[in-house]
Amino acid sequence: MQEMKRAPEVGLSAGPLPLWIRGGTVLTLDPRASVLPETDLLLAEGRIQEVGSPVVPPSGCQILDVDGCLVLPGMIQGHIHLGQTFFRGLAEGRTLLAWLQERIWPLEAAHDNESAYWCGLLGAAECLLSGTTTVQDIGLGPGAHGLLSAIRESGLRGLAGMCLMDSGDGMPATLAGDTDTVLAETVALGEEVGGWVGGRVGYLLNPRFILSCSDELWRGIRQLASDRGWPIHTHALEQKEESQAVMRLKGGLDEIAYFDEAGILASDLRIAHGVQLEARHLQRVSAETFSVVHCPSANLKLGSGIADVVGIRAAGIPVGIGADGAPCNNDLDVLEELRLAALLQQVSHGPAAFSGLDALRLATSEGAAAIGLDADTGTLEVGKMADLVVLSTDRPELLAASKVDLHDLVAFGASRASVRHVVVGGEILVENGRLTRLNLEEIRQEASRCLEELLQRVH
Ligand SMILES: [Zn+2]
Repeated sequence: MQEMKRAPEVGLSAGPLPLWIRGGTVLTLDPRASVLPETDLLLAEGRIQEVGSPVVPPSGCQILDVDGCLVLPGMIQGHIHLGQTFFRGLAEGRTLLAWLQERIWPLEAAHDNESAYWCGLLGAAECLLSGTTTVQDIGLGPGAHGLLSAIRESGLRGLAGMCLMDSGDGMPATLAGDTDTVLAETVALGEEVGGWVGGRVGYLLNPRFILSCSDELWRGIRQLASDRGWPIHTHALEQKEESQAVMRLKGGLDEIAYFDEAGILASDLRIAHGVQLEARHLQRVSAETFSVVHCPSANLKLGSGIADVVGIRAAGIPVGIGADGAPCNNDLDVLEELRLAALLQQVSHGPAAFSGLDALRLATSEGAAAIGLDADTGTLEVGKMADLVVLSTDRPELLAASKVDLHDLVAFGASRASVRHVVVGGEILVENGRLTRLNLEEIRQEASRCLEELLQRVH
């Protein structure tokens, strides 16, 4: 990675002090959706050590007084492109394939490690300020290392990798890498990332989608998934036009049939979107290690349609949620995404078919399962990672009668404006609505400079 000005690395080696979260109403999102009034949490060594009323804290611990606030598990975005954050507004008014070919691929091809680093930190800052604690990022080709460094230094928990491409209509030459080189680069990056910050940043194989990856590249990816145990995270079944192009390219096979024939369904496969999933697809994948990450804003903005989240979940397939990217959304607020997810399912299936609790599950317990992290995060239970978000109930949007269901109150009413504190691995990353580890003004300045330089490089 080239020399660059870097954000401060705080707390990467020494763990934070034990943290006593005192006196909040805790929405655990455990299997019973337990809600615990006036409850304390004790966080130490990166995990939740105690949940009680009250707990007895060790001497010398940090205290976060959250009396009257709501405490929830940290929010999980199962599909995001932090490397696109400063492309916001640069690809308006297009459907998926034109959006990629005319705008996004030329912009991504002009990234270098420095621009990707500051772009990634900008996105991480936006995520943290809206209560996100974990991301599954699809990555970049050029600039992949810079982006992963940004995730590491932001304090977010993350699964991330290099965006893999080797062919495709309208793709710039710098993105269409030689197949063996692409595979070798992702292995090298994965070996480096494997030990970062005690596993807080994990590695993924990120083939972009079927139309940008040759059969040979998919074979290599399948082999790496099997040899290394890396999950596969890709886009699929997003838009009808894309699915038709896949069928033309692959001799009549649609995405699921292609993945089946290529052996990809035998891997741990996480697809973003799934708007075009049909009952026959769900039947085929329901017994596999397969999940869908729902991206409602992006699906609406690119005119893709509405994923049938109710139907996918009914087939036993875990569903997560993500903002996708700033140029197709244009807002990385996870609370806005889950509100929209609930509203869309209610208009599709009726108001009783999808509750506020259902929506919150997509960003917590079920969202964790969708990216394979449910043993570690997604609920507030003893032993889980110390990842949580605190919402202020003195905000007008959260004032309600005492009997109101708090899951509904949060899912339909909260937004990033409600977020007071965010904690990842026991470290306070947002305190009273302000970033603690990251310097937002520095990130804004450096990201603006890098974006201007990047735009000069776009062909
Ligand atoms: Zn995406």
